[in-house]
Amino acid sequence: MKFGTKAIHAGIEPDPTTGAIMTPIYQTSTYVQRSPGDHKGYEYSRTHNPTRTQLQNALAALENGKHGLCFSSGMAAVDAIIKMLKPGDEVISTNDLYGGSYRIFTKIFQNYGIKFHFTDMGDLTKVESLVNENTRMIWVETPTNPLLNIIDIKGCAEIAKKHKLLVVADNTFATPYLQTPLDLGADIVMHSLTKYMGGHSDVVMGAIVVKDDDLHQQLAFIQNSCGATPGPQDCFLVLRGLKTLHLRMERHCQNGRQVAEFLKGHVKVEKVFWPGFEEHKNHKVAQEQMRDFGGMVSFVLKGDKVEDAISVLEKLKIFTLAESLGGVESLCGHPASMTHASIPAEERMKAGLSESLIRLSVGVEDIEDLLSDLERALR
Ligand SMILES: *Cc1c(COP(=O)(O)O)cnc(C)c1O
Repeated sequence: MKFGTKAIHAGIEPDPTTGAIMTPIYQTSTYVQRSPGDHKGYEYSRTHNPTRTQLQNALAALENGKHGLCFSSGMAAVDAIIKMLKPGDEVISTNDLYGGSYRIFTKIFQNYGIKFHFTDMGDLTKVESLVNENTRMIWVETPTNPLLNIIDIKGCAEIAKKHKLLVVADNTFATPYLQTPLDLGADIVMHSLTKYMGGHSDVVMGAIVVKDDDLHQQLAFIQNSCGATPGPQDCFLVLRGLKTLHLRMERHCQNGRQVAEFLKGHVKVEKVFWPGFEEHKNHKVAQEQMRDFGGMVSFVLKGDKVEDAISVLEKLKIFTLAESLGGVESLCGHPASMTHASIPAEERMKAGLSESLIRLSVGVEDIEDLLSDLERALR
């Protein structure tokens, strides 16, 4: 099946008891057993819930994986993956990582004896130079947030194979519409479903998809033991959102391209970060591993003054000032004071996160309205 057909049908079965075409919301915590241990595969909703099962199957299909696991947030999915490690283990990741991932790595798991290295993963020699006998995992996020750097997933997988490491890919920004990391050699795909996958800014949820049965067992054990599972109502909302993922992504990409080109030609703009530009330093890799370039665009103002960025953000009307991304509505944000405030200023500068950097999540509205909103705010 092609992607759009899969988004609508894959992993979804009509409800076995009624034939309902839409997956029912199984709002139940437990399931009746006829005799001890004699049940229909469902015992307790932390462990399994039919609405969640359908969503997990749909996600596995979209990522070309075998098993999906859903969590109560993207961060709970990150948490579950790192819980596979032990004190002394090391992880290599990118230096412009999602702020929340950076925070859980350095402020939580570092206290449990797990060590994290952050480097410019656009350069694979830097990644390989950090590998030692304690390394267990390479954590890839691509495109990165908010600088839209591109990391070569296949290249990371080759290094990982050589040293017997796991590759995790946070696929939140790209979604399986744009790239399927498991096909490029990653072992684990992680998502914040809160963003493009849910797509309607109405739910917080995370997911993991794997191909390997052993990895699935380990992660399912953590999912059930630690208990950060989503409720059935939220699973229903994401199932509903997934059905239009391909349509939304197509428009996000079209609008993203036009916004990036508009900003690039604007006198008040110093630099635009968008992987579709030929001069983007990893454009070639983006072209190879992605179908298109997505709806995220970041830019820096001439003079790099924080006041100027704040003024632009206050003037924007259709681009709403809010954290998060990937919904149908366009959002704007100021990483230095919002999403990335938990990264120390010094680390932020090292990673190239300028004070006037503005991040746009370009929605699916009419492009004329989005461009005139930007035009007016930059005047
Ligand atoms: C939002 C986000 C997360 C965290 O997900 P939540 O659902 O907010 O917990 C992780 N990675 C990336 C890239 C994100 O954008």
